[in-house]
Amino acid sequence: MPENFLVPKMRPHAVSIFAEMSRLAVETNSINLGQGFPDTDGPQEIKDEAIRCIQSGRGNQYPPPHGFPELRSAISAHQKRFYDLVVDPDTGVVATTGASEAIAASLLALIEVGDEVVFFDPAFDVYRAAIDLSGAKPVGIPLTKPNFRPDIEALAQAITPATKVLLLNSPHNPSGIVFNFEELSAIAALVTTHNLIVISDEAYEHLWFDSNRHIPISTLPGMFERTITIGSGGKCFSFTGWKVGWASGPRALITAVKAVRQHLSYVSGGPFQLAIAHGLGLPDRHFTEFRRDLGVKRDQLSAELAQMGMRVIPTEGTYFVTTDISPLGYTDGFEFTRMLAKKCQVVAIPHQVFTESGHDFKEYVRWAFCKKPEVLTEAATRIRTIFLGSN
Ligand SMILES: *Cc1c(COP(=O)(O)O)cnc(C)c1O
Repeated sequence: MPENFLVPKMRPHAVSIFAEMSRLAVETNSINLGQGFPDTDGPQEIKDEAIRCIQSGRGNQYPPPHGFPELRSAISAHQKRFYDLVVDPDTGVVATTGASEAIAASLLALIEVGDEVVFFDPAFDVYRAAIDLSGAKPVGIPLTKPNFRPDIEALAQAITPATKVLLLNSPHNPSGIVFNFEELSAIAALVTTHNLIVISDEAYEHLWFDSNRHIPISTLPGMFERTITIGSGGKCFSFTGWKVGWASGPRALITAVKAVRQHLSYVSGGPFQLAIAHGLGLPDRHFTEFRRDLGVKRDQLSAELAQMGMRVIPTEGTYFVTTDISPLGYTDGFEFTRMLAKKCQVVAIPHQVFTESGHDFKEYVRWAFCKKPEVLTEAATRIRTIFLGSN
């Protein structure tokens, strides 16, 4: 019998750093600023809706294969309300098991052996695993130092006749940047010239700060017809355990996504789909206040980390702030985060885990700030003991 039953293409993805760091967090009794999940649940009325659905028997059996009509209509109305995008709730929207399944289904529907997918690096860990699963070639393009802006010239150079898809993520995990209009316009021009399809992961669409408003690339001229836009109910409403996501776009692309997706999870989360549909209809005030609240947490953790002497990359969106640890005299994020867990009982994630080994982001560390203010304060107090003495 073989020692390792896993197919070779998936072996690089066998062990997750998130599992390792979360285990370390438990073992060392650490505050976990590693994995990105809020420690406060979303709105009570969304919970109430899920409970009402379960109690009254709505969604307890298989929901319709592409999602409840209520959810698909709510997604369509949401795209219209926030972005003036017109998507057909019947043919242009599909409900998924979180944004993760939407990403996997979109990739598996569009690419195969011989194709190439370009994306900016560092990147959400699911991307490389899903691309490897498809048999296509992942082509990561490093974001630029020091502030992680995209290098459009490098993107242009990376596109070959085999390139089929650009996988875009804005607001961007792990860097915290939000792609601006100029960057998106330049990307759209390239994509159009080379006739690529865009898979746009907009899981953090409502989590942007200051004036860094999120712009879906599908709103740019000519882009709707070639873009699959992906959303996450977990990230929009702080229910990351519910795993309700979606993909929307033109009928031809969504038809392809549906064909694959129905053979992955088939359906999921009946009552949660209906509760997220309710959430998508909340007044603008909900989204503004959520953003403001999270922005205060960003400011708090960013200020604390800067005060310790790290260089803080300005966070424009997402749950995360990235710091450069080299001003502290550290050069390796892996070593730094392991040391931090052991000595300070705080867990963070090194950027290395989000990049290809050839791309050098060793001195960067990602910290989740979607935690209660007192938790962030306690984390900072613990870290300060080693950098500033114990006062
Ligand atoms: C969290 C996250 C997802 C996954 O969202 P789910 O709805 O939990 O599946 C997708 N993309 C990015 C960039 C994320 O950070």
